[in-house]
Amino acid sequence: MTSCKLCGGPAAYFIEHSRIMLCQACFIKYYEKKVYNTIMKHGMLRGARKVAVAVSGGKDSMALLKVVSKLISEKFPEVELIAIHINLGIEGYSGECQEIVEKVCGKLGVDYIIHDLSSMEGYRISDLRSTPLRKRICGACGTVKRYMMNRLAYELGADRVATGHNLDDVVELLFEFYLKGSIENLVRVRPISRSDNPKLITKIKPLIELTEKENLYYALARGIPILDASCPLVEGSRMLRRKKLIGLIEHEISGFKHTLYKSHVKRILPRLEKVVAEPMLVECEVCGMPSLSSVCSYCRLISRLARSAESSS
Ligand code: SF4
Ligand code: ZN
Repeated sequence: MTSCKLCGGPAAYFIEHSRIMLCQACFIKYYEKKVYNTIMKHGMLRGARKVAVAVSGGKDSMALLKVVSKLISEKFPEVELIAIHINLGIEGYSGECQEIVEKVCGKLGVDYIIHDLSSMEGYRISDLRSTPLRKRICGACGTVKRYMMNRLAYELGADRVATGHNLDDVVELLFEFYLKGSIENLVRVRPISRSDNPKLITKIKPLIELTEKENLYYALARGIPILDASCPLVEGSRMLRRKKLIGLIEHEISGFKHTLYKSHVKRILPRLEKVVAEPMLVECEVCGMPSLSSVCSYCRLISRLARSAESSS
């Protein structure tokens, strides 16, 4: 039987990039230390009063909620924590997501709010399927989630939004943006996106150095229930195909994902930040939230949705 590299006990988990085996207890310590170090290295909670954790019910955000609630209670007891879940209204999926979130928040004793798009905003992500937006439904869904999460965190008085973006997510984005030479987007791929604008909440990614597999294993090791289904709208997505390709590269070049991420954050990002100006924000004429143009991308999306509904009725 293979032994844990740290304690010699029975090994349970293989850390691919450093090619070592760990037992469950040592893996949990390794994982929590890594999240703590990421938080400290980037000053993610420096001066924070209230952290809103975006939770979907999936492995990443459920692992995030567990580790952040533990670290906050042990190391940052002055910081308040709240979980936010957006029920997207995707048939055969969103109900289950909400159930998991309620279960885990109850288990961890974390306060939470559920924002149901259908009852609170009058539409569902599934409605986008009958509009021209169906071709880029994940992009539109992303716009909704980013906007809502920021607005709800602002309304709840939070000064940080923590998301479960992991190393695989970030490397997939880097891969796409480097290929396209999309400098404006590359400069936004970072562990913390600070904001001085009171309506634009600082975003943090405490799991940015951990892989999807590590998050899954942490959730399982900690006995956290996670969603056992994937979104029915994701089929054939380019994002999934890119992740598969990156997995193949990682298989051939061990440590590829970590190397790409670290090169970006340490070497490229500081240079890009010097040459790419921060975008000028104005208030959206419709909703009053920060926007790059007179009407924000969320309000434009909603008006397209309304126009499609009118023309089909
Ligand atoms: Fe939204 Fe696409 Fe994720 Fe489904 S897979 S929840 S549509 S972003
Ligand atoms: Zn708006």
